[in-house]
Amino acid sequence: MRTTIFTFILCLTLSFVNAQESILGFTSESAIKQQELEATFESKLNASNLDEWMQLLAAEPHWVGTEYGEKNAKWIQKQFKSWGYDAKIETYHVLFPYPKIRLLELTGPTSYKAKLTAVPVEGDKYTAQGDALLPSYNAFSTDGDVEAELVFVNYGIPKDYEELDKLGIDVKGKIVIAKYQGSWRGIKPKLAAENGAIGCIIYSDPADDGYGRGDVYPKGAYKNKTGVQRGSVMDMPTYPGDVLTPGYGATKDAKRLDRKDAPTITKIPVLPISYEDAQPLLAALDGAVAPQSWRGGLPITYHIGPGPAKVHLKLEFDWQLRPAHNVIATMKGTEFPDQWVMRGNHHDAWVHGANDPVSGMVALMEEARAVGELAKKGNKPKRTLVYCAWDAEEPGLIGSTEWVEDHKKEIQQKVVAYINTDGNGRGFFGAGGSHSLQAMVGEVAGTVTDPQRGVSIKERRNAADMVNGGTGEFGLSALGSGSDYTPFIQHAGIASLNIGFGGENGGGEYHTIYDTYPHYKRFKDPEFAYGIALANTAGRITLRLANADVLPFEFQQWHTTVSGYLDEIMKETNKMRKDVEKHNTMVEKNMFELAADPKKPFLKPEKKDMVPYLDFTPLQNEMASLKTTIAGLSKIDVSQLSKTQRNALNSKLMLSEQALTSEQGLPRRSWYKHQIYAPGFYTGYGVKTLPSVREAVEQKDWKEAQEQIGVLTGTLKRFNAHIQKMSEVK
Ligand SMILES: [Zn+2]
Repeated sequence: MRTTIFTFILCLTLSFVNAQESILGFTSESAIKQQELEATFESKLNASNLDEWMQLLAAEPHWVGTEYGEKNAKWIQKQFKSWGYDAKIETYHVLFPYPKIRLLELTGPTSYKAKLTAVPVEGDKYTAQGDALLPSYNAFSTDGDVEAELVFVNYGIPKDYEELDKLGIDVKGKIVIAKYQGSWRGIKPKLAAENGAIGCIIYSDPADDGYGRGDVYPKGAYKNKTGVQRGSVMDMPTYPGDVLTPGYGATKDAKRLDRKDAPTITKIPVLPISYEDAQPLLAALDGAVAPQSWRGGLPITYHIGPGPAKVHLKLEFDWQLRPAHNVIATMKGTEFPDQWVMRGNHHDAWVHGANDPVSGMVALMEEARAVGELAKKGNKPKRTLVYCAWDAEEPGLIGSTEWVEDHKKEIQQKVVAYINTDGNGRGFFGAGGSHSLQAMVGEVAGTVTDPQRGVSIKERRNAADMVNGGTGEFGLSALGSGSDYTPFIQHAGIASLNIGFGGENGGGEYHTIYDTYPHYKRFKDPEFAYGIALANTAGRITLRLANADVLPFEFQQWHTTVSGYLDEIMKETNKMRKDVEKHNTMVEKNMFELAADPKKPFLKPEKKDMVPYLDFTPLQNEMASLKTTIAGLSKIDVSQLSKTQRNALNSKLMLSEQALTSEQGLPRRSWYKHQIYAPGFYTGYGVKTLPSVREAVEQKDWKEAQEQIGVLTGTLKRFNAHIQKMSEVK
């Protein structure tokens, strides 16, 4: 973008004048001031605050609607006020089911009643809280009472059902048991129901996060035999947030859907269980032996079934509206009060949530406290800062989604960017987000020191990337879903980031009763060194966005990345064509039958429809044109612009991400407006880039794929025109 050249010029000048480096979006004068400000900011960060606040926020279970959750929200509000913010609580009234009846039993050929309870750790006050701990369940499972033969479906993802098809096994009318992982959990009951199953059980296999990975809690960090992962199974790829108020805020008097009409509640009952409870069920299965890659870490032979194991699953929930308390803390900008830089982390947890979300929450608070100190000493931000502590993230990003839906118009006029954090650990810097922010985040990552290795977090991360077969170049991953950035980027079209540290803090405590302060202190980030690194990184990003002369968006890296996505889809389509040709030849020549064991069941595969040639040229041409327009914008020398011209440029830059959305949204899920990134319809959290075209190709809907190539080209044309207008600001 304009600042690339600008930065280059600055680098040249500054290298002779001053050791300081240039910063994207800052003139040389303000870059020096900003670097001093960031150094002072860093010097004010204090790890003992994070430790102290985690003990307080994670002392009791605090899921949405609990007294302790409300107490936490009020306490967070009080802290923000004491640091000089205007802090308020905005409450929404959201549907949140609480488990009333949870029954799972093996009724044949042997019997077993699932315990559905994790055992407390001896001498540990957190896990000994008995009834105060939220029983393990999947929120937004429908009520149900079903009994049927059991089928093991591996992770319960699309390719597992393809494998079952090949083996001639149908799950219609059955209850499926799937392993956690491999996809976002909500995909498992969704696909099971689409394939005709009447119930779904999800369990944590010890190979994935139990003794197959390391010592189990309390000896080690991994999941013991009784641990159960809670979690939402709401159909978030359709829309997240309150299930009864899609697209608008769940205010007290909002019009609500009837619960039976809510499309994002599961169609079949679903329950998560431990591997202690799963083992007798799996051991009672017979039929085909599971393929090698499906087998887990239990000391049994994994069979698929169906049956003879028969299970009875009965679930009933207390469906009530509960208050979700978002804390919104604002510090008004001195020069541009109507341009907001937003920063958020959720405060609700499934149980105590020391790691998820409190480790991220306390880093956000320490950052906000230090920023408040700077402001008190006269260093107020030029743009308005809005710090948010979201409620009800765990059941389905509900607090943030309702807030965004409720304030959508104002958000789209005022928000420059949203920076999200969530649980934080030890290790490598991870960052996903809008690629127009990639250059800026890369610069910031070069200024933050890794607490263990003493190099920059960027250098350490790039080293790990290269060692693991990557390019070793810094980049942002694309955002799908899984935390509170979703409503901002996917629905409102706000440039967003999601950042954190991890990779060296493995464990099995996620969403269990063991995600507590003692677990965190022993296995995650004992000294809160990475909590400080997170506060430092997110704080610098926030302060740069708040004080930049010209907002630090950069589009050349954006273009390289998005062109890469288009190439992937074109290559994938060609590969699919070759695969179908090969498959059909093998069918014609009877090869599948010849390769199969005649003593095992065999279903002869059918020939597949040929993959047609799609016309990608409209997209290719638009991307080529964009490259030229972006190059034009990059030629602007910002130091030559007047203040009025800079302001004019800023007012367009902050709307650039919105130019990548389309009002009609994605096919069959109009809540998702962004045309570059979306969570996959069948992957859940996992991202699909250029989703309307990519998913149509993956679903082999060639007509829709060609149509969506046209729609996406239209969006890119509008984006191109927007960039063109910016480059005319001279
Ligand atoms: Zn979280």
